[in-house]
Amino acid sequence: MATNRTFTMIKPDAVANGHIGAILNDIIAGGFKIVAMKYIQLNEETAGNFYGVHRERPFYGELVRFMTSGPIVAAILEKENAVEDFRTLIGATDPSKAVEGTIRNKYAKSIDANAVHGSDSDENAAIEGNFFFSMFERF
Ligand code: GDP
Ligand code: MG
Repeated sequence: MATNRTFTMIKPDAVANGHIGAILNDIIAGGFKIVAMKYIQLNEETAGNFYGVHRERPFYGELVRFMTSGPIVAAILEKENAVEDFRTLIGATDPSKAVEGTIRNKYAKSIDANAVHGSDSDENAAIEGNFFFSMFERF
């Protein structure tokens, strides 16, 4: 996967609250092209694998419980400088600290149920995109 790509999930809270359409709108309006997308529900094993880097953090159990609580939308996005620009578009992890107009500022309620995921590096964007999508599922 090229470095002009990032990986995102619309998390269970945002799906349950009916924000899929609005968030996809913001993503597209932000200049991102969707190159792969699926609607799925994680289980303990897949969520645990995805968030393996956080296994030692105190909120790990809560995070896995939340991320398996309902369906999500997973997508690979393309744009120049995708990883950094997408982190700017979504805002800070804690929505109360997220800049006005960012996706987390608009649609997230708490630091755990924070509406969206965005990869934090080109390397992780590739790992995360490959975790969810086979080569036949992305353009
Ligand atoms: P991100 O890269 O901005 O998503 O943040 P992190 O990589 O630090 O954390 C991954 C995810 O874990 C966050 O998006 C939240 O859903 C969750 N999380 C982070 N910090 C906390 C916390 O203090 N408590 C809980 N319950 N969840 C957290
Ligand atoms: Mg992170």
